[in-house]
Amino acid sequence: MINLNERYVAEILEQLIEEGAPFCTCENCLTDIMVVTLNSLPPRYVADCSTMNFFYPSKTIEIESRDMILKQVFESIKLVSSNPRH
Ligand SMILES: [Zn+2]
Repeated sequence: MINLNERYVAEILEQLIEEGAPFCTCENCLTDIMVVTLNSLPPRYVADCSTMNFFYPSKTIEIESRDMILKQVFESIKLVSSNPRH
């Protein structure tokens, strides 16, 4: 069982780090960003990858939710950066 949002958030964070986004990438901050983001999003559990097509028949839905997640990731980065635990 996987939470699709968890995977999306991890992917988006990886991408942002690769692109050199200006936020702290220490373990504490990254974990906090993941936690804050995932707590702000509804969970999206699927049984496994092979059932993804059933839950997400349209690519459009996936892109839309990606945008929503990206927005939330940026909110979380702002929040964590203003109150870092490192
Ligand atoms: Zn940090």
